[in-house]
Amino acid sequence: MMRLMKLRRHLRGSGRVLVFVFAASIVWLLFDMAALRVSIDDVNTHILKERVLREREMRRVRATPNLKMEFKHPVQRLDPAAIRDRERPLASDVYREGSKRAVLKDKKDLKRDRFKSVAPQHKADVYNHGVIAKQDAPGKKKVPNLDFGVAVANASQVRANKVVLERDVAKESLHAVASKEKLGVNETIVLESKDLLPSKAMSHQKPNKDPNAQKEPLKPTAHLHVGNISTAVRKSGVHKVLSLDVTHAPRDPNALGQFGRGVILPSSEDEEVRKRWDEGHFNVYLSDRIPVDRAIPDTRPEVCSQAVVHDDLPSTSVIFCFVDEVWSTLLRSVHSVLNRSPPHLLKEIILVDDFSTKDYLKEPLDKYMSQFPKVRIVRLKERQGLIRARLAGAAVATGEVLTFLDSHVECNVGWLEPLLERIYLDRRKVPCPVIEVINDKDMSYMLIDNFQRGIFKWPLVFGWNALSEDYIRKHNITVSDPIRCPVMAGGLFSIDKKYFYELGTYDPGLDVWGGENMEISFKIWMCGGEIEIIPCSRVGHIFRGQNPYSFPKDRQKTVERNLARVAEVWLDEYKDLFYGHGYQHLLDKSVTDIGNLTEQIELRKKLKCKNFKWYLENVYPELDAPLVKAEGLVFNQGLRRCLAMFKDSLSFETCDLNKQSQHFSYTWLRHVRQGDLCIAPQQSLNSFSVVSCDNAKAELRWFHKSSKSTLADHFIAEFASQHMCLEAESRDDSLHLSPCDSNNSFQKWQFTHYYASV
Ligand code: UDP
Ligand code: MN
Repeated sequence: MMRLMKLRRHLRGSGRVLVFVFAASIVWLLFDMAALRVSIDDVNTHILKERVLREREMRRVRATPNLKMEFKHPVQRLDPAAIRDRERPLASDVYREGSKRAVLKDKKDLKRDRFKSVAPQHKADVYNHGVIAKQDAPGKKKVPNLDFGVAVANASQVRANKVVLERDVAKESLHAVASKEKLGVNETIVLESKDLLPSKAMSHQKPNKDPNAQKEPLKPTAHLHVGNISTAVRKSGVHKVLSLDVTHAPRDPNALGQFGRGVILPSSEDEEVRKRWDEGHFNVYLSDRIPVDRAIPDTRPEVCSQAVVHDDLPSTSVIFCFVDEVWSTLLRSVHSVLNRSPPHLLKEIILVDDFSTKDYLKEPLDKYMSQFPKVRIVRLKERQGLIRARLAGAAVATGEVLTFLDSHVECNVGWLEPLLERIYLDRRKVPCPVIEVINDKDMSYMLIDNFQRGIFKWPLVFGWNALSEDYIRKHNITVSDPIRCPVMAGGLFSIDKKYFYELGTYDPGLDVWGGENMEISFKIWMCGGEIEIIPCSRVGHIFRGQNPYSFPKDRQKTVERNLARVAEVWLDEYKDLFYGHGYQHLLDKSVTDIGNLTEQIELRKKLKCKNFKWYLENVYPELDAPLVKAEGLVFNQGLRRCLAMFKDSLSFETCDLNKQSQHFSYTWLRHVRQGDLCIAPQQSLNSFSVVSCDNAKAELRWFHKSSKSTLADHFIAEFASQHMCLEAESRDDSLHLSPCDSNNSFQKWQFTHYYASV
């Protein structure tokens, strides 16, 4: 107390109160400013984060040229620095000095607007066929020998043949023998349509396993083996995945597009780019200037190069179908397979020319490919379309596994073995590589987000979808685990050849392009197989905004017809969801002839395939697939009573959920239906009756809740030329059609449950 008194006296006496208050305010102010700065920083970080996210999103949108897809391909811009940070023996790590500089240069480029033309960074390289043939002829490569009892050649021999192996692989597991490989003969086979029936080729083969035999429970599949390499010494043992890549040390590290870099051409070349764009619906002009054997970065998750696979994997025939493919992309596709596949596993490469019109795909292609004994060319005598062209390739294939690829791809290092390993483990597995994106404008090789799987939405539209974080955590899924995939994208996959034929191949009634990925996916899953994406196998693909080739018939009609075949054969009662999402017109058989389905339906029975409900419940439970749009009681707002059906007449009753006579459904085909009976207007339009439902009859269809308009609660007659609506008559409980009136409550109806808003 005394001390306080002293203090007060001291302060009052010396007039230091003011000083104290002043000092305190200064301190307070400083604190305040600091706090403010912190929160401004916070805001800035937040804005920055948002901007980064937004830019990333925009980049994805820009980099996703495939307008045919409803949902975007999940690309990431490949940042060489980011890849290097992953501390693994990446392509860029083993590049020569010059190329390292080039990588850094490219990083600088990334800051610029990629689509604005600036001066080129590197001297153009127009590909010289002779050089490649002389230096890199992969047909002359030595075969890696996995039988460890055999004497091995030394590493310099391997390098002399330009097979540069990842250092640790060379050291630990892979030995190359000097023996010359038995190579296939290059040939040109001319096939006609009668040769293409898939059943002919392998019909003698009976399934040796019941496709519906006990399968492992539907859970995330096991890891690729990652283990000690010493086990590889056992016969039929395992070895570390081979990281063969002839392009590790490319001829010209400064060439355009080398190492998967994007190329920005000077604006003076815009015209050239534009002129040649339509040849492939991508930057054909640029592609022609990029080496056909360019290096690309190893984009696999880190653990992949350490994964082990079995020594006695089956061999594969790689089948490329093409129609009027661009020369440089076709060659790049073939070279990527030759340069990055273990030769002993690559039985052959079959090029199926689907009656291309371009001269360069005839003799010049024969001549060019004649230097690679493994390459065979099959020429179709008439245009068959992708599906039947693939079947033609399969019919002549001699490998145990068929690997289908599009003709504008680049297979990445180690792409093949992880696919074959899955088939080795279970021949009913159908593995697909991760499809990375080769940018259609700057030809850069782009990374894909992890954990992507192929899915579809109604009406059978393919798209990509990331596994949810919850799912990943719950099932402990790592970046290299195979991902179960409800549908495959279609272009790139491997399948055991016998199994492919057991499944009845593709429906050969599918034309040109489209829907075949849905067909094979449903068939595989429902008939005992599995589709997986294998993150350790990566293949770049040029996604195009349009098909660059012509369709013999109208494109849209062709795709729709294919999809209708798939729906009719595989979707059971769910096919209404397909038709109900904009394909109702296909139900009119007089307009669309979807062809004969007997064989396909028989096949499904013969294989004892499961039904589509099983597929939805077990493979793709996330899909929203209500069998009807709405159901329950049908309440009329004006009458405040519910519609009821007696025998085949309609009336109104006090609403009662227990009365079956009051239960209706509103279907995907827009019928108001009870059992097999549908509400139908009489000829006069003034009364209504009940008739057998008929999908082809337009007068049975009603729009209801189909828009957010003021007429959403109405039943609008689809067949009437002006807006005519179903109206309840209060005098005699009858029904009639009247011009629609948004305020008339006797025209407003409600079902008890709505499942879809379309
Ligand atoms: N293709 C074919 N015949 C056709 C249509 C396509 O051989 O009638 C080939 C085409 O050249 C390509 C593959 O089939 O190699 C897949 O076609 P596309 O790349 O157009 O399909 P997308 O990748 O757009 O799904
Ligand atoms: Mn393609």
